[in-house]
Amino acid sequence: MSTPTSYHLPWDEFRRQGYALIDWIADYHEHVEQYPVLSQVAPGEIRAQLPPHPPQQGEPFAAVMADVDRIIMPGVTHWQSPNFFAFFPSNTSGPAILGDLLSSGLGVQGMLWLTSPACTELETHMMDWLAEMLGLPEQFRSTATGGGVIQDSASSATLCALLAARERATGWAVNQRGGTGQLIAYASSQAHSSIEKAMMVAGMGRENLRTIAVDEHFAMIPEALAAQIAADKAAGLTPAFVCANVGSTSSNAMDPVRAIGEICRAQGVWLHVDAAMSGTAALCPEFRWILDGIELADSFCFNPHKWMFTNFDVDAFFVADRKALIDTLSILPEYLRNTATGSGSVIDYRDWQIPLGRRFRSLKLWFVIRHYGVEGLQYHVRNHVKMTQELAEWVRADDRFELAAPAPLNLVCFRHKGGDAVNQQIMDRLNRSGDLYLSHTKLDGKFTLRMSIGQTEVRREHIVAAWAKIRAASQP
Ligand SMILES: *Cc1c(COP(=O)(O)O)cnc(C)c1O
Repeated sequence: MSTPTSYHLPWDEFRRQGYALIDWIADYHEHVEQYPVLSQVAPGEIRAQLPPHPPQQGEPFAAVMADVDRIIMPGVTHWQSPNFFAFFPSNTSGPAILGDLLSSGLGVQGMLWLTSPACTELETHMMDWLAEMLGLPEQFRSTATGGGVIQDSASSATLCALLAARERATGWAVNQRGGTGQLIAYASSQAHSSIEKAMMVAGMGRENLRTIAVDEHFAMIPEALAAQIAADKAAGLTPAFVCANVGSTSSNAMDPVRAIGEICRAQGVWLHVDAAMSGTAALCPEFRWILDGIELADSFCFNPHKWMFTNFDVDAFFVADRKALIDTLSILPEYLRNTATGSGSVIDYRDWQIPLGRRFRSLKLWFVIRHYGVEGLQYHVRNHVKMTQELAEWVRADDRFELAAPAPLNLVCFRHKGGDAVNQQIMDRLNRSGDLYLSHTKLDGKFTLRMSIGQTEVRREHIVAAWAKIRAASQP
């Protein structure tokens, strides 16, 4: 047989397979409830079924899809199931999936404005739309001093904010000469682990992250922050960065942004507000109290990929002063020089993030926002909060259970009063059953169940059923 001149998939064949795959995805979402929510496989079970060596000859697409069904699906945990209540949601929607597909289809790499002007300009525009939709103050818009950028995750947003804070606090010296001096960062004991990781990556050292005490609702105590900053200054150290959580991961605790922001302003410390999950609630004016004082922040982020029906990965990261961020992350090798960049009249988002390359991720935001409209998004967020509040009422009304923290939005932290072992038993039984998936945290040293409600297809009947199963699973 002669050697073929191309191994590529012909586009008419792609078309056929693509239609079939879209059907597969639609079927999956329509029938997602039939799978055990938490994958029930043992470690190594999936890998053991994969051939040890890559194929020498290409295989038909149908054979690959058959293995998706046979090998991959048993090892999938169904994040899009309406019975998924663990961690925080990572929801998606038809428009988001299609937007992501279009991004793949175009195969654009948007590192510079020049490398695809639409990729940059649609992103700038979507970030300004989001700023308006959340009621963010003027300085976070591209039309003022700041602007937004899509990051892959809140962890990356936090790292970029920390780097800009580091440079601002040292007059842009660390980028030049290395060594971070004695820069100190602050977050509450409930803050996300990504802050500690950012301290490691930024070369600032995890020992220089101060843990600030929280009140009985797990929110940062501003007076404790002020006292720690004063003590560090007195010791000759340089306070550089505070991360406030608007919706902590463990219990959805809301740090008081205004009081913290006033301290940061007075002390010249960078304030980053991490609202990864809860930020989406600010789509609804009645929930915007969570961002009270946001005008005092230097940076803010939230994840449309958690609760805004836009599949992973989209973190929306906003800065009030884009110059500080760009001065921190900009680098211009000869091979990237071009007239548009040189003119200073365009945004090159590579200067707003750690990697050089970037996907056309604003397409999925554009598709989602245009499909739902602001009203559609508000409708579903309100619905999730309403269901959560109803569940919190049921927990309060059952004298065998108690709420472990306030439930301001779409997370309920609760426990059976019988102690840690009973709560562990409830979680293990339910997660093994495959009927639903819950996760846990520790609050006040006690094992606490978490139920987070933000799945695209979740309805009241799922919450009713889940609560019945939780009560049943608490029986000996
Ligand atoms: C989920 C979460 C994060 C981490 O989000 P990634 O986008 O996965 O990095 C950070 N902070 C808070 C408050 C979160 O809830």
